[in-house]
Amino acid sequence: MGLSLNKIAKPQANELNRRASIFANDNSPRKRLYVEENRLNFSKQDIIKLIKNIKRIYKIPYTLYKTLKLIKKNNIPSKNQISKQIYDDLVQLLTELQVDDFGFFEVTPERIFRGCGVPYKYALVFSAAMDKKAFENAPSIECQIDVARVYALTGNITNRVSEFLQNKGFGASPNHSMGGQLDYSMAAEWAGIAVTGRHCMAITKNNGACNRLSVVYTNIENIGDFIKNTEDMTWIKDFCQKCGKCIRKCPEKAIYENPVVSDGVNPTRIDYEKCCKGFLRYGCGICIKECPFTGGNYEKIKKAYHKRSSAYE
Ligand code: SF4
Ligand code: SF4
Repeated sequence: MGLSLNKIAKPQANELNRRASIFANDNSPRKRLYVEENRLNFSKQDIIKLIKNIKRIYKIPYTLYKTLKLIKKNNIPSKNQISKQIYDDLVQLLTELQVDDFGFFEVTPERIFRGCGVPYKYALVFSAAMDKKAFENAPSIECQIDVARVYALTGNITNRVSEFLQNKGFGASPNHSMGGQLDYSMAAEWAGIAVTGRHCMAITKNNGACNRLSVVYTNIENIGDFIKNTEDMTWIKDFCQKCGKCIRKCPEKAIYENPVVSDGVNPTRIDYEKCCKGFLRYGCGICIKECPFTGGNYEKIKKAYHKRSSAYE
């Protein structure tokens, strides 16, 4: 797309590291860098679609710039307890920003990528939908355009929420959807709003695998009094074990049948470099398209799964 993704994502990481109070340790996972690749071939139609959507794509650097400014602006907080009124206003803001699922978790050193740090003990996680239609014909330029659109959308979410919380006196540092200090799919799992599928995407109730995530680090100590994600989604792990469709359909053979420990400590399900190449070269999004949770209804899949499981008991 003509942008060095690693370069444009680096300043926010440097600033978060500079302001960090919690740091990764020897058990932390290795940070994944974007693979610098370009699309191989553009058809005339692809170019027309790109030109039409260029504003959406170039919103990413703008939102990243805003993220950096907000991290720098985050001075000493005056509050660490949220009231019911402010929480309700926050929920209303999330609805306006098109957040479909959100949760929080406590950040511990082993959850942060090696060499990274974060400023606050808690993290809010937000998930917003990608357009399922854009993935219907994956691989395609539509997939790339929609991923770029939702990177900007979720980047804007983390910025707006941080700004809102900072203005209310809380500590709040945004982490843009592009260039996390930790694994966002796992963040969604820790926050109880998703389970990480074998394709490494977070599978949420509302959008299946067709979503993107961003994070705000915060000092709000009592956020757990308000956010309750009680849905037990762990059954998806077993469903995934039996399904394996994304593994079979992946054109780059990027998804491992069994997780591999490549950083000496943490198992990973995917060869991230191979996957990045597929996405950047020809707009791969096949695993998202093929995942039953993308096209299907969460409740129906769950019901059918439990019915089948109890028939075998
Ligand atoms: S996006 Fe494509 S290359 Fe990457 S894991 Fe999914 S199917 Fe494989
Ligand atoms: S395609 Fe199947 S195995 Fe892969 S993440 Fe989706 S449910 Fe799990």
